Amino acid sequence: KFITFEGPDGAGKTSILNKLVEKVQQKLAQNLVVTREPGGTAIAEAVRNVLLDNSNTNMDARTEALLFAAARRQHIVEIIEPALAQNKVIFCDRFVDSSVAYQGAGRAIGMDEVYNMNLFATNGLTPDLTLYFDVPSEVGLERIKNYRTDEINRLDTDTLEFHKRVKAGYQKLIKDHSKRIVIINANQPFADVLQVAYQVIANYLEL
Ligand code: C5P
Ligand code: MG
Repeated sequence: KFITFEGPDGAGKTSILNKLVEKVQQKLAQNLVVTREPGGTAIAEAVRNVLLDNSNTNMDARTEALLFAAARRQHIVEIIEPALAQNKVIFCDRFVDSSVAYQGAGRAIGMDEVYNMNLFATNGLTPDLTLYFDVPSEVGLERIKNYRTDEINRLDTDTLEFHKRVKAGYQKLIKDHSKRIVIINANQPFADVLQVAYQVIANYLEL
């Protein structure tokens, strides 16, 4: 089972993911693979380093989208597909939805264009389940101002307008993929978000 975690900045997705892993690990043990793009593959790391390089201030939005897709491809081939072949459960921090929302909607190069370009990278691989952590843009932006730990500083326009476009992108995705994407209200205390997220996972995996 391929399960992805999505959401705008400041939704707390990564912290929740870490806690969820602790909670499900006893039950799944070695059947659980936790990853994020680029997921520790040498080639994808190299691509990501280009994305991370804050001195690349002139990077074109389509270049950015292509590089994310290239890193994604390598991560799929080296990590996700082998794990799926072994029937493992994969928790992946961000996937194609992020590109469609951030590059497609946020950077306004077109959601369909970014989705279609990613089909080439994924060869159609789609998550079985996606947990979308929902937070108002104002709240998310306020949270990341207080504790930003993300490495991709260059990509952060950190304006409310950008974050609103990203969120609108996600909302369109949710509408179009309502069976795959489960919305989790992340604008509530951490323990409550964790509890809801755990329930969704536990129900889905029949834990
Ligand atoms: O998942 P995480 O929040 O750690 O992502 C790191 C940063 O990369 C975020 O600030 C997000 O805005 C950015 N990002 C992006 N496009 C993607 C994925 C992530 O701009 N496709
Ligand atoms: Mg994060």
